[in-house]
Amino acid sequence: MAERVRDRVEQVRRRMAEAARRAGRDPDEVELVAVTKTVSVPLIREAVDAGAILLGENRVQEASEKIALLSSLPVTWHLIGHLQTNKSRSAAEMFDLIHSLDSLRLAAALDRQGASLRKQVRVLVEVNLEGEPSKSGIIETDLLPLLQACRQFTHLAVEGLMAIPPFRRNPQEVRPFFRKLRWLRDQAAKACPDYPLRHLSMGMSHDYEIAIEEGATLVRVGTAIFEERPVI
Ligand SMILES: *Cc1c(COP(=O)(O)O)cnc(C)c1O
Repeated sequence: MAERVRDRVEQVRRRMAEAARRAGRDPDEVELVAVTKTVSVPLIREAVDAGAILLGENRVQEASEKIALLSSLPVTWHLIGHLQTNKSRSAAEMFDLIHSLDSLRLAAALDRQGASLRKQVRVLVEVNLEGEPSKSGIIETDLLPLLQACRQFTHLAVEGLMAIPPFRRNPQEVRPFFRKLRWLRDQAAKACPDYPLRHLSMGMSHDYEIAIEEGATLVRVGTAIFEERPVI
């Protein structure tokens, strides 16, 4: 299995680079976030050995256990799942980038924690592209107001957008959602020129190549690397 994790990291990397070149992009513009939720520590080590040094976790608690066990490795951790305001302190401490900012209240909490930790808390705003209330993220029309309101925060760095588009068996059908997120980013960048909205976190195991063709700078890939993870 260890060998397979290495092969898979290499294969994902290769495909990422090919997708970037197809779109006339520099492959170095796109980073792999290896999603390690539910993955055991030995397998995570294998992925890290193979060069996957950005690791994504969904939950603060699960992440904190793994971070403690893997503290000797040269990795940084990203939070990709929903964050509750009451966990904002641990999140601000542990994560290099939080992909899931979805309210002004959470922004204010992270800013406060950033101030007390004397660090800039880096975040992406998660956008709910379908506008379905059951999905995570803010709806499109709330994006600009949220960005404008975040101007007041001195310890929060808003660096881009993230989305989890609906699953489609044919990944080509996800392309319009990726385009939409990029368009929203471009609009927001025009409206808020003082924000460096350089990141687009989009694309998962079955559609990351298309996301890269549409401008992703961070792809979040779990099963394509760690296929045999237990389902919980
Ligand atoms: C689990 C997860 C991923 C990775 O999904 P795979 O299909 O396993 O690549 C990406 N993003 C988020 C937010 C996730 O929860």
